[in-house]
Amino acid sequence: MKFDELKLEPRLLRGIANRGYKELTAVQEQTLAKTLQGMDVAVQSQTGTGKTAAFLITLFERMSYNRTSKRKKALIIVPTRELAVQIEKEARLLNRHLGYAIGSFYGGVGYERQLNLLKKGLDIVIGTPGRLLDLSKRGHLKLKDIRTLVIDEADRLFDMGFLPDIKRILYRMPPRNARQNMLFSATLNRISRRIASEHMNRPELIEVTPERLTVDTILQELYHVKSHIKMNLMLGILKAQAPQNALIFTNMRHVAFRLAKKLQQNGLHSRHLTGDLPQSRRLKIMDDFKAGKFALLVATDVAARGLHIDDLEMVINYDLPQDCENYVHRIGRTARAGNSGKAISLASEGTADHLEAIESFIGMKIPVQTANDDLFATDMSLELSSRKRFRNDRQKNSRINSRFKNNYN
Ligand code: ADP
Ligand code: MG
Repeated sequence: MKFDELKLEPRLLRGIANRGYKELTAVQEQTLAKTLQGMDVAVQSQTGTGKTAAFLITLFERMSYNRTSKRKKALIIVPTRELAVQIEKEARLLNRHLGYAIGSFYGGVGYERQLNLLKKGLDIVIGTPGRLLDLSKRGHLKLKDIRTLVIDEADRLFDMGFLPDIKRILYRMPPRNARQNMLFSATLNRISRRIASEHMNRPELIEVTPERLTVDTILQELYHVKSHIKMNLMLGILKAQAPQNALIFTNMRHVAFRLAKKLQQNGLHSRHLTGDLPQSRRLKIMDDFKAGKFALLVATDVAARGLHIDDLEMVINYDLPQDCENYVHRIGRTARAGNSGKAISLASEGTADHLEAIESFIGMKIPVQTANDDLFATDMSLELSSRKRFRNDRQKNSRINSRFKNNYN
């Protein structure tokens, strides 16, 4: 179904067209069918399926519809600052021809700018629970004015322990039947369902199950490699394939840090993104990566949450994820919104169990590639003596690889 076919406010339609959206995604189609009529929804759909636009379009359309009367104010509760910033950006794009006032609120930044924003009066408030509650308690944010509520990434909000804050926010709002409520999540767990039944008006349950867990347009590859020459293989792959950009995942922060440094020492422009970096720094890194200012970003799962890049060419699992769902989250970063992409995983000794879990989770064997000797590159960050040792080791590795290949194919 095309957006044109929805009888939306023409200025909103223009915003959607400018954003480049033509066809509705499955979750957008199912959600809008209910929400545009004013119904509450609890929506479960995997990451990258377009949930943001589903609720933003609802908000904008319902606001325009109520133009003549008092404007309907909306509140969007999200788990992280990154997500708040990202939703604000998307909202501003769709709002281009509408002119609603939008603001986002999260911890770690000063109050002054945020208070000024609130004084002006906002139509859409986006924020993390702690800061929203704080602003409400101090009397700056009038939660009683809110007529539409969105809880985004509900599973993560509850995982991160925000349930008590969210409840406090809910109690400061008008009664549930005086507002429209929407809850979005990658999984609808017990808490989400309880919130939906206790604080929403008999929401329509929308569950969009993907036909397959992994996106078909992602080309997946797996290399078996001894851990001490994993770096050489990754360097070789990066040199051979020269992706325009790649997101590299490690399981631990210090590995991400070290890897980015080593890549840099090998003449590849790279940065690391880990949870311990200050917020402002993380945002800057993400923006620079999106803008193509450097090609390789090494990240941990937690730090990379909420990072969405439309034209990411490659994902590399330098470490196989310990949690098989993260495999799907990671590789789903490429091939977003219909683009194709490549996901390369490096499996080293001791990760056979992870691999087995991942393959059974995605319901397929990841095709194994053989790393020939010449695919390994010298790691220029190492001492000369270590470089020599590596030349012997890679020959042993290609024998290991061909043995694995025989096992799998
Ligand atoms: P989710 O919240 O479900 O994880 P997002 O809302 O972040 O997903 O959207 C994922 C990507 O898809 C974004 O890059 C977004 O711009 C894009 N997108 C959303 N809706 C559409 C659409 N109808 N057509 C094309 N791309 C879309
Ligand atoms: Mg989302």
